Amino acid sequence: MEKYEKLEKIGAGGFALVFKAFHRETKETVALKKINIFDIFEGVSSSTIREISLLRGMEHSNIVRLLDVLNTVENGTNKVYLVFEHMDVDLKMFMDTHSETAKDPPVIKRFLHQILSGLAYCHSYKIVHRDLKPQNLLINSSERILKTADFGSARAVGVPLTKYTGGDEIATLIYMAPEILNGFIYSTEADLWSVGCIFAEMCNQEPLFNVSDHFELLREMFSLLGIPDGQTWPEVTEYCQFLGIAENTPPKNLAEVVPNLEPAGVDLLSKMLCYNPRERITAFDALKHPYFASDIGGP
Ligand code: ADP
Ligand code: MG
Repeated sequence: MEKYEKLEKIGAGGFALVFKAFHRETKETVALKKINIFDIFEGVSSSTIREISLLRGMEHSNIVRLLDVLNTVENGTNKVYLVFEHMDVDLKMFMDTHSETAKDPPVIKRFLHQILSGLAYCHSYKIVHRDLKPQNLLINSSERILKTADFGSARAVGVPLTKYTGGDEIATLIYMAPEILNGFIYSTEADLWSVGCIFAEMCNQEPLFNVSDHFELLREMFSLLGIPDGQTWPEVTEYCQFLGIAENTPPKNLAEVVPNLEPAGVDLLSKMLCYNPRERITAFDALKHPYFASDIGGP
């Protein structure tokens, strides 16, 4: 820990405080993620172990790089710091502070391509991120490089994924895939739904679903995309009766929901916001979509 000089706090998520710091010898700027949660045995929480073990094996230009893990004692208690390469801002802050640039169509395309590249890499290793949202996507603003971060909720597919029970702290609600909301088994496809929500948010500079609870979210989804039926998503029809929605309103025209997005982008978005996870576009296929046929731009 003495190797680093801790500078200002740059972030606070659900579980951690993040500080900017620099290495006293190399002068390299890094981000130190200080983990607060310790379990009852005073061990490191399972989300930290998960984040460390998953990130240690990953090497991709669109995944944040874990440089080191430090154990230290502060005020008599053990602390763990994850040392990451430092990035300028997260996508949420970027949209708030650079709104003109953030809504520029080539910038959106370039960011989306990088989100999908990182995700295709994770999914090729059968890792589901489970908490994709603008706050967990980090940006180097001058080079327009985007890297996915915060693997504290990620899981390897194959380990049985607990069904969502409403009390489980996985993923931020408004980016949550319908199969997770409905308590179904889910996998890598769930991340593509979140990417669709983020894509629409980049286009409109506001969240696609601006809701605060589970049922409101389902209602918003249904009002945007129609109620799933036997054709669009066989498993979910009974659930709609439970919600007390009798009228099936026709889906909205997605092009009107994201008026500034070119038609190829609207087509890609519609393939991400697909109820049935088996029919949803994969990260690999999304990268080959015609939306990316035109220049994705350099720095
Ligand atoms: P949590 O698990 O608590 O959500 P995150 O890893 O998402 O922790 O970090 C919280 C916030 O700190 C992020 O939303 C981001 O704003 C900032 N942050 C995290 N890592 C970095 C980094 N490497 N460079 C710059 N900012 C970061
Ligand atoms: Mg986070």
